[in-house]
Amino acid sequence: MTHAQNYIDTYYRDTLNADKARPALEGDVQTDICVVGGGLAGLSTALGLAERQKKTVLLEANRIGWGASGRNGGFVAKGYAQGYRQLVKAVGLPHTKELHKLATHGRALIKKRIENYKMDCGPVIDGVLGVSWNKNPQAVREYIDFMRKDLNAPLEFWTEEQVRAVCKTQRYHEGFYSPEDYQFHPLNYAHGLAGAIESHGGQVFENTKALRIEDNNAGYIVHTPAGRVICDQVVLSCSIYIDGALSAKLKYAAFPVYTFVMVTTPIPEDILDGALATRYAIFDNRFAQDYYRRLEDGRILWGGRVSLSAAPEDLAEIMLRDLLKVYPQLEGHVQADYAWGGELCYAPHKMPQIGELKPGLWYNTCFGGHGLVPTSVGGDVVSSAIAEGDERYKLFEPFSKLWFAGGPLSPYIAQSVYYAWRIRDFLRGLKN
Ligand SMILES: Cc1cc2nc3c(=O)[nH]c(=O)nc-3n(C[C@H](O)[C@H](O)[C@H](O)COP(=O)(O)OP(=O)(O)OC[C@H]3O[C@@H](n4cnc5c(N)ncnc54)[C@H](O)[C@@H]3O)c2cc1C
Repeated sequence: MTHAQNYIDTYYRDTLNADKARPALEGDVQTDICVVGGGLAGLSTALGLAERQKKTVLLEANRIGWGASGRNGGFVAKGYAQGYRQLVKAVGLPHTKELHKLATHGRALIKKRIENYKMDCGPVIDGVLGVSWNKNPQAVREYIDFMRKDLNAPLEFWTEEQVRAVCKTQRYHEGFYSPEDYQFHPLNYAHGLAGAIESHGGQVFENTKALRIEDNNAGYIVHTPAGRVICDQVVLSCSIYIDGALSAKLKYAAFPVYTFVMVTTPIPEDILDGALATRYAIFDNRFAQDYYRRLEDGRILWGGRVSLSAAPEDLAEIMLRDLLKVYPQLEGHVQADYAWGGELCYAPHKMPQIGELKPGLWYNTCFGGHGLVPTSVGGDVVSSAIAEGDERYKLFEPFSKLWFAGGPLSPYIAQSVYYAWRIRDFLRGLKN
């Protein structure tokens, strides 16, 4: 017996346009492809398949966007959880350029779908600003040069004065502005994708956990508590919740990382303008970074931190303190209204894992803390591989070997790395 879970208490849940519930699967259904997992990875894959005239069934154990996909910061930003300069070291510049092309396409595809299907997941606001915690204009310029010259990404340098004109804090120095990145409401987007799948005749089931997959030589049978999906091919997009009964290999190739978001009470506009005078989404350049944005009702959505375990009891206070460290002028004007955590799925190389476990059994998972654009990429390349024999998914082959990622010890390894990087951030800060 499995127990499906409803949405946790988040700002996104409370601002869902329409909380359309989908039925649980009962009985047998026959289809071309069964996608397991109703996060943005599974939804993007299922929509890519449905758009390519494949009969598609999607199974979600809880609710659409219940996991990281409905709890994140809403930054639709370039690239992957692994940085591009590290990717150049790992796979070379030509290969990195191809991966970047996919990311650029994936980011544009999200916007195109929002427009084409008239998804109500706004406001969609262009512009993301990366700010430096340490004074090092040379390093910012070098990064921008690399991104412009080698990857054709139109980043702009912002001086300390420009940054501080909109982020009114002494904490930040120079920055870079990315005009092509944007922000939106991720849970409304997830529901938009589910509706788009259904508009092509695809079927979406909630409260329907895939329990095991039977290979019957002619295809696969996906068993659920009250029914079965009989299909030619299966795509696993279960993120960190993957059950060993579906694939022990996938389960042990990733480790979990918790990360957190807090949303403030609405702040009067004049006071908010005295701290954060922009609607651009902001992130700083520390490993343990803060990332945040103004919401349309005068709140600030503030993200950051990673941890071994789910949200501590005083999460709201901890996150509020982080905000007040950067914007002390908001003290007395702001309280935490929501605070929540979510679980990320990381491979040791911080890249997505995309490929085929055996003929007709695909995986599209492990997007880490930077997944909105990469899930769109993964969905596109896997659906076009299945429907059209497209081989772009092979660009992820260097990262698709399913190494053992530490098993039960993996969260402790992740936490130690996090502390080490926080100490490094602290020491760098002392040099300012
Ligand atoms: C707090 C937080 C902030 C973040 N901020 C950003 C951001 O601003 N920008 C960005 O790009 N990324 C961000 N991310 C990362 C991003 O949200 C994730 O990388 C992305 O959503 C992962 O999508 P997914 O579909 O792989 O996983 P998930 O969204 O976790 O979905 C997996 C789904 O699979 C379902 N499932 C699992 N097993 C089964 C089964 N057996 N049967 C049926 N269903 C199953 C689960 O119920 C779940 O709904 C953030 C993440 C968090 C947690």
